[in-house]
Amino acid sequence: MTEPTDGTGRRIYTNRTLNLRALRAIGYDMDYTLIHYRVKEWESLAYRYVKERLLKRGWPVESMEFEPDRFIRGLMIDTELGNIVKANRFGYPKRATHGTRVLGFDELRSAYARQMVELSDPRFRFLNTLFSLSEACWFSQLVDCLDEGQLSGVRDYRDLSHLLRFEVDEAHVEGRLKAEIVAHPEKFVELDPDTALALLDQKRAGKKLMLITNSEWSYTQAMMQYAFDPFLTGMTWQALFDLIIVDAQKPAFFTATNPIYEVVSAEGLLRTVRRPVELGKVYQGGHVALIEEGLGCSGDDILYVGDHLFGDVQVSKRIQRWRTALVLRELEHEVEEVSSFYDAQKTLEALMGEKEAMEQQSAQLRLKLQRIQGGYGPRASQSEEELRDEMAALRDRLQHLDVQIAPLAKAVGTISNPYWGQLMRTGNDKSQLARQVERYADVYMSRVSNFLGPTPFAYLRSSRGSLPHDPLIGDP
Ligand SMILES: [Mg+2]
Repeated sequence: MTEPTDGTGRRIYTNRTLNLRALRAIGYDMDYTLIHYRVKEWESLAYRYVKERLLKRGWPVESMEFEPDRFIRGLMIDTELGNIVKANRFGYPKRATHGTRVLGFDELRSAYARQMVELSDPRFRFLNTLFSLSEACWFSQLVDCLDEGQLSGVRDYRDLSHLLRFEVDEAHVEGRLKAEIVAHPEKFVELDPDTALALLDQKRAGKKLMLITNSEWSYTQAMMQYAFDPFLTGMTWQALFDLIIVDAQKPAFFTATNPIYEVVSAEGLLRTVRRPVELGKVYQGGHVALIEEGLGCSGDDILYVGDHLFGDVQVSKRIQRWRTALVLRELEHEVEEVSSFYDAQKTLEALMGEKEAMEQQSAQLRLKLQRIQGGYGPRASQSEEELRDEMAALRDRLQHLDVQIAPLAKAVGTISNPYWGQLMRTGNDKSQLARQVERYADVYMSRVSNFLGPTPFAYLRSSRGSLPHDPLIGDP
């Protein structure tokens, strides 16, 4: 285990080497990328609007409350069993709830004895962004209601998940939710004065900057003005970008050929576009080929920065071979918690090392006994009785060790979140989210202003990575 060098989580973490200096264009998503929302406030509001819609269905949800810490990004909704699952990098479920109830070890094992959790399987829905937290909360609470026969109009968990998806989408598009955010941005947006400077550095270093957001023009304009203009002198947020694409409809933006329109007025008046896209303008819709043509660059000349693991990072990487950066704000809390647990983690690792050595010793004694009893192979110098005594003594020591290990292991399992533990780990292994991040995000970071540290001229090198057969440093 290496010493913690930075307990703030404010660095750029590199999966694949990335030369920032060589990039010709950088595209940014807006929501939860350039603009960070106070998750609890935003999701509580979204939860409330969904509640209104569910009450109209006559569902008994009046007394239900949003629990902000109950779920985390990177979990999977199992629409067949009504569970929410955290899996490791191989897709083996390691923790789960059915409705709001945590599944015990045996229940988890029997539920998933023959089932891996695959992102490509439509049965599972991955919680890709912080916008998914209130939906996960609703799903778990409504599963409880369904189990008690309290929901009219839904037959099973799959039905419930479709209906909930519909209601969440409707609540987002009906306009009241966003109108409330626009009316009181100070309640919902966590400002970061350094983001504007990080973008300005990149622009002055010769990069073409783009904003590619699924949000509509009126909302984009209001939010960007609120979050950027106070921190820019002599210019407005729009001047930071060479291209602005609103209503982009990602992921289809990266995979399909949607029509493009030019936004020609502040009110959002649209004009059909017949020429190639021109820098300095605002567009609605469109697709990636039009943008690459307009910029005069493509593929790995372009870095795209977003918070949606699928819509921003996976498709842009897999289909377009753009370089990718994922924004995970939760990393700051996670790194801080992991750092504060450093000494206890070291103790735990030392105890586990001791346990492993004792188990190995016990296995050797057992084999010696087996060979004596079977009358084969090289014989031990000890008698059967001596071997049995030694094994019994080891068992006692192991039990004593387990008493010391148990509370520490339990505490490690609740780092970062009391129900699910760390975002990027399950036990000692990487989580399914961590696997997706390393597969599709070239770099990841807690927020865009972390670019200030390395500057636009940095060569970000990936670490060597470890393999189980690597010799341990310091081993004789
Ligand atoms: Mg976003």
